[in-house]
Amino acid sequence: MKDETRLIRSGAEPRPLARTVNPPIQRASTVILPDAASLYDPDQVSYGRAGLSVRNALCEAIAIMEGAAGTRLYPSGLAAMTGPLLALLKTADDILVCDHVYRPTRLFSDRMLRRFGVSVRYFPQTLSPEALADLVRPETRVIVLESPGSLTFEVQDVPAIAAMARARGVLTLMDNTWGAGLLFKPIEHGVDVSAQALTKYVGGHSDVFMGSASVRDGALLKALEASEHDIGWSVSPEDAYLMLRGLRTLPTRLERHGRSGLEVAAWLASQPEVLEVIHPALPGSRGHAIWASDFTGACGLFGFVLRPAPEAAVHALLDALTLFGLGFSWGGHESLAINVDPQRKRGAALGDYAGPLMRLHIGLEAPEDLIADLRAGLDAFNAAA
Ligand SMILES: *Cc1c(COP(=O)(O)O)cnc(C)c1O
Repeated sequence: MKDETRLIRSGAEPRPLARTVNPPIQRASTVILPDAASLYDPDQVSYGRAGLSVRNALCEAIAIMEGAAGTRLYPSGLAAMTGPLLALLKTADDILVCDHVYRPTRLFSDRMLRRFGVSVRYFPQTLSPEALADLVRPETRVIVLESPGSLTFEVQDVPAIAAMARARGVLTLMDNTWGAGLLFKPIEHGVDVSAQALTKYVGGHSDVFMGSASVRDGALLKALEASEHDIGWSVSPEDAYLMLRGLRTLPTRLERHGRSGLEVAAWLASQPEVLEVIHPALPGSRGHAIWASDFTGACGLFGFVLRPAPEAAVHALLDALTLFGLGFSWGGHESLAINVDPQRKRGAALGDYAGPLMRLHIGLEAPEDLIADLRAGLDAFNAAA
């Protein structure tokens, strides 16, 4: 054989791999089939887009965590919400979406779903299940939930809403990014599709995008698989590897995020500049009662309300922080801070607050260091107020 042929054929012998702690990253578009009969055998894996070793391992591990019949992966957390909606909806269907839903999910509903003739209606996130039942129409196909909301942290009565929806033949889809698949188990509580941005706590290091949708039964799994295939989504095996690695330490990291978050929240509640801390796991906070009955823990994301002050004072607070990064997203090892009001003004009925609304993500730093940083921020706030 000539060099060019030998270079293509050499080193390509399949060999059994040594057993490692984690599954190997298998990179492939083409899959080589063992014989001619296998080429068109529907039971054979015939192309890499559907997912090979590490992606399948990640699906399996998330399905076990979510108590699901199966899990599909998406290239982002947003796609893990839009993907199931595309899989389940058709023209003339109606969906009910909670008002505080992640804003890009709302934009998808308003722009894309409406363009395809789906009726999109929003309901206040704190609406009672009985009042929500009154909004259900014969053509209502899906109710979209998110709890707690990622800006204003209202906690929805998910078990009651899911039971109400099921009794009326309506599916429920929940964005469970705050619960991260561990702190709240949507499927156990009656939800049909549990989606999360793995980008946040599962990845855990602010450097990789992915989403998952986990489903209650085989029919839903088939619907999600079919639409994933039809649309052509695929995630990279390297990214799936990073997510699987993150999953191994998720409970340990979340426990620390939750504990430190509560410590910082309790400290903030005692500061004179702070009118209210909105942290569902903090006794006395809005949402605490439902959180206490449905959740097993807290992550590191929560909000607080400052005493009324001009925007310049809010900026002075943020600009004085040295340990908190000013940035969107959350779930990584680092602490982050944003002011929320510019997003509330763009969004829907996100409630009224007596002063500026802030959001913190508490990372894995020592809480006493974070508290000192926040105290310096509050001092700068006072100086500018
Ligand atoms: C970040 C986020 C998403 C989207 O995840 P991406 O991976 O950034 O697309 C969806 N829902 C919530 C609540 C989020 O915070």
